[in-house]
Amino acid sequence: MKGLVTLKLFLNQENEVAVDGVSSKATVQDFFDAIDDFFTANPLPCETCKQNCCGGRFKINMDSVSARKISRGKVERIIPKLFVDMGENKLEVFLVAGNKKCRNLNGLGRCLVYKERPASCRTYICIAKSSCYKILEAAIVAELHHAMRAEYLDVVLADRATPAAAIEPAGALRQEIVSTSIAYNRNNYSEILIKDCVKADSAHSNVTPAEAAWFQELINKNV
Ligand code: SF4
Ligand code: SF4
Repeated sequence: MKGLVTLKLFLNQENEVAVDGVSSKATVQDFFDAIDDFFTANPLPCETCKQNCCGGRFKINMDSVSARKISRGKVERIIPKLFVDMGENKLEVFLVAGNKKCRNLNGLGRCLVYKERPASCRTYICIAKSSCYKILEAAIVAELHHAMRAEYLDVVLADRATPAAAIEPAGALRQEIVSTSIAYNRNNYSEILIKDCVKADSAHSNVTPAEAAWFQELINKNV
């Protein structure tokens, strides 16, 4: 359910994408809806742009809610299509990594999973952004990526082909991630509060404690 204050995006005096109306009840879905409304009012020239963002020159974090939606709840089905980087207790799960074109891009340059695309794709806007937008983007993308790491480990732990020696470290890492994740096991973005993402992510380090405190002051001004 939407909060009493409506979250919206607008262009500020510096021509940056800015955010207004973030309340303690605002959800990740409210943020994504506000981004869609902003794009409707300020369409980007993607069809004629030579940058071709989905063409794969970036790393795109996978997100847990998107993974559940794209796979219709069978996350194990899409794991082989993702790019997983695991080393020294650090696990990354990407939709796109490096120079490969996103597999969800069709021959006409359209996204085949547009309604279920990950947070990294939803929040990317190729124009200048305000500090508040950057904090929300960083926190939401990082939190959903964090939860995706646990979803991946769930698949690893359930896979009979996983070597016995890998079970214990995978289980320990999963437990560590789950204990600090607020997006894990959620099926919808409307179940995740933005304020929880910012708070949780300051622990995952993409948002600094000072930014998290500033953000808290901001939402305290609204209902
Ligand atoms: S998002 Fe921006 S940079 Fe990327 S293809 Fe569209 S217009 Fe070009
Ligand atoms: S999921 Fe869709 S929006 Fe995201 S990189 Fe792939 S084609 Fe582009």
